[in-house]
Amino acid sequence: MFQDKYLELIMTTFKELADYIFPDVKETIEDLEKKFPKRNLPREAEVTRFAPSPTGFLHLGSLFMSLVASKVAYDTKGVFYIRLEDTDTKREIEGSGEELITQLEHFGIVPNEGYLGSKEIGNYGPYVQSKRAYFYRVCIKYLMEKGRAYPCFCSHEQIEEIRHVQEAMKVIPGYYGEYALCRNITPEDALARIKAGEKYVIRFRSEGNFDNKVIFHDLIRGDISIAENALDVVIMKSDGLPTYHFAHAVDDHFMRTTTVLRGEEWIASAPIHLELFNALGFELPRYAHAPVIMKLDNGNRRKLSKRKDPEASVQHFIEEGFPKESLKAYLMSIANSNFEEWTMENHCFDIDKFKFSFDKMSLDGVLFDQDKLNYFSKEIIASWSAEEFYEKLLAWSKEYDEVLYNHIKDDKEYVTKILNIERGGEKARKDFTYFKEVYPIIGFFFEDRFLEIVKDGYPFNEAMPKDVIKAVLEDFAKNNDYSLPNDLWFNTVKELGARHNFAESNKVYKQNKDAYLGHVGDVAEMIRIALVGAKNSPNLHSVIQILGKEEVDRRIKLAIDYLG
Ligand code: GLU
Repeated sequence: MFQDKYLELIMTTFKELADYIFPDVKETIEDLEKKFPKRNLPREAEVTRFAPSPTGFLHLGSLFMSLVASKVAYDTKGVFYIRLEDTDTKREIEGSGEELITQLEHFGIVPNEGYLGSKEIGNYGPYVQSKRAYFYRVCIKYLMEKGRAYPCFCSHEQIEEIRHVQEAMKVIPGYYGEYALCRNITPEDALARIKAGEKYVIRFRSEGNFDNKVIFHDLIRGDISIAENALDVVIMKSDGLPTYHFAHAVDDHFMRTTTVLRGEEWIASAPIHLELFNALGFELPRYAHAPVIMKLDNGNRRKLSKRKDPEASVQHFIEEGFPKESLKAYLMSIANSNFEEWTMENHCFDIDKFKFSFDKMSLDGVLFDQDKLNYFSKEIIASWSAEEFYEKLLAWSKEYDEVLYNHIKDDKEYVTKILNIERGGEKARKDFTYFKEVYPIIGFFFEDRFLEIVKDGYPFNEAMPKDVIKAVLEDFAKNNDYSLPNDLWFNTVKELGARHNFAESNKVYKQNKDAYLGHVGDVAEMIRIALVGAKNSPNLHSVIQILGKEEVDRRIKLAIDYLG
């Protein structure tokens, strides 16, 4: 009996430890290799992914990353998939996974396979990490059998203590070498402690050395030379879920990702990943570490912050009504410096038609540039037909601007005419940047809004005698010719001015100010203020045409009454 027990103990090898920890694991890595074979795609086809964590809203940087990843797959006729990285259960926000998918969809970013919110498609799943525990266990078991993974029983306090010692000694922080207290626990002891119910995590046993360098190739940055990994990183947490490092190796391998596109903040941990891929016998994917989107804050660059910056959230742009095309074009201009020039040469903002390339990507964090986004937005809105604009505005306002929606929903013809003012052609007006500002600009066309605007008065020039303004407005209402095109019509405004002693131009007026009350610009301003309640408006001739005689007469009368 004693003999048996003794034998059992010395025979307890890593294999037995692994069998004890992973009794459910019956398959091997080879089995998984067969289950998830290399994809049958042409050589140049890229398999890319977006791997969000469901920890909140869609960040502008994530939209950027997913846009580029999907674009690379699209350009190479490859596969773009989404994987939900939900292993950090503490930070998870209920429902945010689904929300991410809805927002991506809004931008037309629909994966070929993967996690799709309520369902998933594809043969390489599950695509939600919390459902992949078994695969991680297969792989950790393999490492443990080879002695490349071991249980670690260190408490939080012990880890803290190690950190303090390392800080005091000014050595590289982390769990490695002599600081890796559980690294040399025998499998027998480990097994006994596990059987006794002690809590543990599983760590990778690194064979690296910080003094050595590894070189890996980055599609954006070229060869990167960096210190080898020597950390015994945690690969399985005490809740049985993997850490990012381990899940990245297992998932990107078995989902057959060809290019891992992720934020540059991951460069520092790439040596860990290189060693893990190696130890698991997996071929390394290509890496592309993309720049993060930054902001200037008091002269300092910092990452766009979820807490401080509304523009960090993609939802902000959706709610403001930036067309999805403009956000995509803007992000593509960050991705590839030649995109903007391409849009000008091709009079096209469709990123699908542009050829993306990694080597034109900027290396450093890029500053968020609202002006550039506004530029794309104005150009894109100006490129639409009025009908197209109307439809998009209608869809947006239904969701985000009830007042506008109620004004435009039943009056397509009228609103389309309004949106058509100075649209198209060489000198197209580019005054709309996002949908939320449409109502403030065009609201005066609607009776109720107009009355609200003039309720407290009109901004007429106070230096101008009221009688003169009244006389001009009366004359205008009586004699305006609605049939004339813009240029000829403007001549009649000059004639109207002349009848009331206004010069036909500013130039003429300036030559002899005493001879006139003002010039034609002042006349047009009086008419404009009476009709729109403000000194600025879209083209006055168009405004008059769209309001029509009856409404013009009504508004002129109102202004005259106001003048008393
Ligand atoms: N879940 C990781 C993140 O949100 C993904 C990084 C990656 O793409 O590999 O940062």
